[in-house]
Amino acid sequence: MISIVGTCLGLVVAALGFGFSSAPGWRDHRLPAWSALMLSGYSATNSVGSMAGTSDALVSLCSRGSMIFITLFCACWVAYGALFLEGRSQVLDRTVLGLLGLVALLAPWPGILYTSEVLFFEVPWLKLIYRTLNPTLLGDAALGLLCLSLLLPLVRLGRAWWRGEADVGPVVLGMALNLPVGINDSLVVARVITMPLLTEVSLMTLVALFGVQMTRRFVANAKSLEELRVALEEKVSQRTAELTRMQAVLMRHEKLAAIGQLAAGVAHEINNPSAAVAANLRYLREELAGGRLPEDSGECIDESLASVQRISRIVRQLLDAGRAAAAPAPSGSHEVASAADAALATVRAANTRPITFTLNVPRGLYTLSSQDLLEQVLVNLLSNAIQAISPDRTDGEVRVEALRDGERVRIRVSDNGVGMSQDVQQRLFGPFFTTKALGMGTGLGLFVSLGLLRTVDGTIHVESTPGQGSTFTVELGWAPPPLAPPAPVALSKPQARPRLLLVDDERSVRESLRRTLQGRFEVTLASGPEEALRRVEEPGGFDVVLCDMTMPEGGGPAFHRELCARDATLARRTVFYTGGVTSTEARDFVARYPLPVLEKPFDLGAFLKLVDEVLPAGSSSGQ
Ligand code: ADP
Repeated sequence: MISIVGTCLGLVVAALGFGFSSAPGWRDHRLPAWSALMLSGYSATNSVGSMAGTSDALVSLCSRGSMIFITLFCACWVAYGALFLEGRSQVLDRTVLGLLGLVALLAPWPGILYTSEVLFFEVPWLKLIYRTLNPTLLGDAALGLLCLSLLLPLVRLGRAWWRGEADVGPVVLGMALNLPVGINDSLVVARVITMPLLTEVSLMTLVALFGVQMTRRFVANAKSLEELRVALEEKVSQRTAELTRMQAVLMRHEKLAAIGQLAAGVAHEINNPSAAVAANLRYLREELAGGRLPEDSGECIDESLASVQRISRIVRQLLDAGRAAAAPAPSGSHEVASAADAALATVRAANTRPITFTLNVPRGLYTLSSQDLLEQVLVNLLSNAIQAISPDRTDGEVRVEALRDGERVRIRVSDNGVGMSQDVQQRLFGPFFTTKALGMGTGLGLFVSLGLLRTVDGTIHVESTPGQGSTFTVELGWAPPPLAPPAPVALSKPQARPRLLLVDDERSVRESLRRTLQGRFEVTLASGPEEALRRVEEPGGFDVVLCDMTMPEGGGPAFHRELCARDATLARRTVFYTGGVTSTEARDFVARYPLPVLEKPFDLGAFLKLVDEVLPAGSSSGQ
């Protein structure tokens, strides 16, 4: 019965031991697992040998088998104990292992370790009968070696356990048990005492305690794994928080860098035309101070106006980049040819390179966009095309073509310039991406063009071969031609000059607008909402108000609220203009306001047209 239990226990612990030993850090469990397997073999041969009615031949076979299994069992533990020596001399352990190997080799051969005589041991009070082969002198020595061999791992493991180097307490206890058991069994075999043989029970105890030790180690590992997981999670959340903080810092830095880059680009683009304006004005002032009106004064003024327009275009371009998504939907049809003509004229005027321009755009082809938008996009594409052609080339060519394809219009701008690498093609629509020399490019042209085209459901893409040239294709919705060409703003002669209240907190803007408008209006100036409201309450009244949006004291929206309460008619005849809407309140106001809000610097014609709309017939501002 005990042998059957031993066989099963050995198999279970061996299976667990081999299973665990495949885990990292558990390799050393392989030797005790082998020992459990040997116990299983030992118990199995014992159970067969001790069965009632077993022949002497089978008893002899089983005794020899048991001897081999128990020898290998001890060898496993001696080898296991040697693992705890950690680099120290293992001569003794190796010698013992060699002797054990010899015993295992000699055990099968008759007459060496055992005679062929079968002995009987009886324990009457337990009704036990043992049958085993009679050991020779060498066999007795071998049994003694087996008993003593377990002292070696006992010492090795005991020392490691005592020093707290390894949790092997249960196994040490199991090995210590073998000593009294060995003495007991020796006395039984020598027929000094009549006791049951206890070796098998003691080996089972050792293997069972090894199972306990394995379970304890497993639980301890699981616990430390859990602690490690908690610590790791804490570390990960700390690192994530740190990463998020660093990301925010990085984004702030990137934003600052982007602003710096933008500012540098804008400064460059604006400084040039403003230098031209300043130089022209200085020249005119000096000449006028000397009582002369220079012959080229008209030229100076035209040049200055063109420069101012350029500045306003840059500012608008930047604003467009920011609010492209919120831009109003295109209104009506716009002819591609007129936008292409205007764009080509603009770039040709500035071009000094020997380039052949080819325009192949059919008249009467209309798109759903706005003239300004299309012109701006084409100017960007054409300027890039010109700059892509090296100045020393004489065969430079830039082509603009357009055609209708179903409900879409395709406009192609191509050049035979330097072309672009794949890397540049992938990045060129990003903000601030430029390959041009410092001060030559802002890297905003294509970014803004893309933003503008998106507002009118348009697309743009590029095909390019380095060294051969590039083709940009713009696609827009096709629109039918308008029923009648848009009539120019007709200004009729005034009956009497309408009274205009002009509200702006910036003196220079106020004064320049007064000079522009005083021919058509009786202009009264106000430097802010408060002063404007005082003027409204003065006798005489006004026909129309022209007011800036962004001012102190609540700006245009606050002024309009107050004006509605005091003079609702005049409030309806108020035209607003803005240099850029910055606050949410102002944006809401612009969206709700029934009249279009003009953009600075605004077109006089557009303003007069609005005035004509709001003033009753007969009090028109035009001429
Ligand atoms: P910028 O002209 O200020 O550099 P853009 O956004 O207009 O900014 O252009 C970005 C970059 O795309 C240019 O610097 C240039 O490298 C490349 N690019 C644009 N058009 C062309 C072209 N026709 N041929 C070669 N490269 C071009």
